[in-house]
Amino acid sequence: MSLSNKVVIVTGASSGIGAAIAQVLAREGATLALVGRNVANLEATKNNLKGTQAEIVVADVTKDAEAIVQQTLAKFGRIDVLVNNAGILGKGGLIDLDISEFDSVLNTNLRGVILLTKAVLPHLLKTKGAVVNVSSCAGIRPFAGALSYGVSKAALDQFTKIVALEMAPQGVRVNSVNPGFVVTNIHKSIGIVDEEYNGVLQRAIQSHPMGRVGDVTEVAEAVAFLASSKASFTTGALFPIDGGKHNLTPR
Ligand code: NDP
Repeated sequence: MSLSNKVVIVTGASSGIGAAIAQVLAREGATLALVGRNVANLEATKNNLKGTQAEIVVADVTKDAEAIVQQTLAKFGRIDVLVNNAGILGKGGLIDLDISEFDSVLNTNLRGVILLTKAVLPHLLKTKGAVVNVSSCAGIRPFAGALSYGVSKAALDQFTKIVALEMAPQGVRVNSVNPGFVVTNIHKSIGIVDEEYNGVLQRAIQSHPMGRVGDVTEVAEAVAFLASSKASFTTGALFPIDGGKHNLTPR
């Protein structure tokens, strides 16, 4: 197993891609700190894991970075990998922009990642560990009408590359996965109602060169690879998991 004896913090482990990441990392032998705000959902993720140690950490990534680190260390004594997966969508382009929503998206998707990575870093330096950020295809190429989200993920990608350069001499690797559309709760969380959702999904299917959307496990497998020593010479990389969509020219 590629992550035996490794302690991994997974943010947003209570839902969607983060829950799948927890499953795949557990299969690879990791010990897990499962971070999120929804206790019932975190417990559901934990109950689905087999044969691994997991600690539920009820925390908000925008303000609880130090508490996340302290609870993980108190339980497991070390940190080897940080998976910054927690994230939220925003809606609309510049004309429609709700600046308080913009602040909220940047606060979660960028500032929260920076705060937690900064808090975890001293412990990753001890273990020669790794960071995997869950970004988006929207970080690599622009999508009209997704301003807050695209800006947050593009900035996150630059954060990945900068910290990778800063930490490379110390042996800490920093990479990201950049998924295309994956069916989770995230799209309905911005108010897409059931009647609209099928249209959104059909357009997403058509917009990916492979003619389908992604599955949470396809993202999780890439996270597990980047977290493990199988990716020991990889840092500062953005890994698209998007059926080829990042290479399409924006219309
Ligand atoms: P979900 O809405 O299913 O899950 C989002 C997760 O983030 C939840 O577990 C939620 O936990 C957590 N979260 C959000 N805000 C906070 C916060 N302030 N503190 C702690 N946890 C928080 O979405 P996905 O699984 O789809 O998204 C996961 C990541 O994947 C995100 O970064 C997203 O941008 C990215 N992504 C998703 C794509 C998709 O199509 N689904 C495509 C590309 C990227 P809780 O509610 O318990 O706080």
